[in-house]
Amino acid sequence: MPGFEIFGDEERKEVLDVLDTGILFRYNFDQVRSGHWKAGSFEKELTEKLDVGYCHLCSSGTAALSIALASCGIGAGDEVIVPPFTFVATFEAVLLAGATPVFADIDETLCLNPEAVKKAISPKTKAVVPVHMCGAMAQIDRLKNICDRKGVTLIEDACQSLGSTFEGKAIGSFGKAGCFSFDFVKTITCAEGGAVISNYEAVYKTADAYSDHGHDHIGNDRGLEDHLILGGNYRISELNAAVGLAQLRKLDKILELQRANKKVIKDAMAAFPDVTFRKLPDEAGDSATFLSFFMPDEDTTRATAKALSEAGVDGCFYWYDNNWHYIRQWGHLKKMAVAARLPMMLLDNFPDYGRLELPASDAIMGRAISMQIKLSWSQEAIEQRIEKICGVLKSI
Ligand SMILES: *Cc1c(COP(=O)(O)O)cnc(C)c1O
Repeated sequence: MPGFEIFGDEERKEVLDVLDTGILFRYNFDQVRSGHWKAGSFEKELTEKLDVGYCHLCSSGTAALSIALASCGIGAGDEVIVPPFTFVATFEAVLLAGATPVFADIDETLCLNPEAVKKAISPKTKAVVPVHMCGAMAQIDRLKNICDRKGVTLIEDACQSLGSTFEGKAIGSFGKAGCFSFDFVKTITCAEGGAVISNYEAVYKTADAYSDHGHDHIGNDRGLEDHLILGGNYRISELNAAVGLAQLRKLDKILELQRANKKVIKDAMAAFPDVTFRKLPDEAGDSATFLSFFMPDEDTTRATAKALSEAGVDGCFYWYDNNWHYIRQWGHLKKMAVAARLPMMLLDNFPDYGRLELPASDAIMGRAISMQIKLSWSQEAIEQRIEKICGVLKSI
């Protein structure tokens, strides 16, 4: 899975370009930067790779979500539909925007169930944020249709699924905006970084300004630039962007390796009738960072996860018990344990997440295990891994 497994001279060269000029800032200093614009180059190359109109690189995937929400006009009092299986950043960004997260069930795609989204839409719903979990896609065509028909904005959290496609079109490019993360464990990494992509120039321009205090980035005298809107600082540094640029150029290779490694393991596991696989709306577009599967019931799943770990099959995740990726363990959200009052808490009847029940999602997550697919495995390591996995599945 993560690009950090294949750091090399390419990353080193890009970082040294930046250190050699000493210009660590992504804007200005045109005369002394020797033509190096790492953030700018990354943005250009990512738009080409994803065949999308615009890209703005920023400091994290979490920042990308905040920027995307703001740039699509989502804020105080709005409801935003999100899944209960995601990384906490998705609902954090909604809360920090002053909006209210509304959780709708997932299905066996491990992503939002379009029917559940339809039911969750209220007059206050302004956006739906599907999360393309574990390297693969939600039913993005159906979700887009629902949003279009209801006049609701679609924003994709594609932080875990760079390179994934649906019917040939890049995940992240279906909505009004799409978000990516390049944190240390994502498909490619900037150490810390993120991106907002869009096909709408107005969304891009707002994103570009919002993430840098409202600067319009016109001309080359920062002090004389205009500020059209209020913003904040979600900028990325040239050092981070340099690492990401080298990584981005390895993306095709990363995807090819992941897909090959995943295929042999999946083929071997398919021989076990108790194992069923995550539903993939377009299997060819899976970025293959994970192999996710279901066991028949919660007890068997927990036992399988334990046995896999004991057999030395590392990188297996039983998300149902994980503190960060499924709502069941989000005690801080359920208690609204906040550092300071959030705008949502000014509402008369803000949701009590502690009482929220999502039995359909529980039934799916209780049976799901995801296995990380690594880039650095040798053929021999993969064969040994398959042997161990089959041993465990036989014994269960
Ligand atoms: C990693 C991740 C984020 C946040 O990205 P950071 O760069 O770590 O801030 C958001 N959503 C999902 C689904 C993620 O996996």
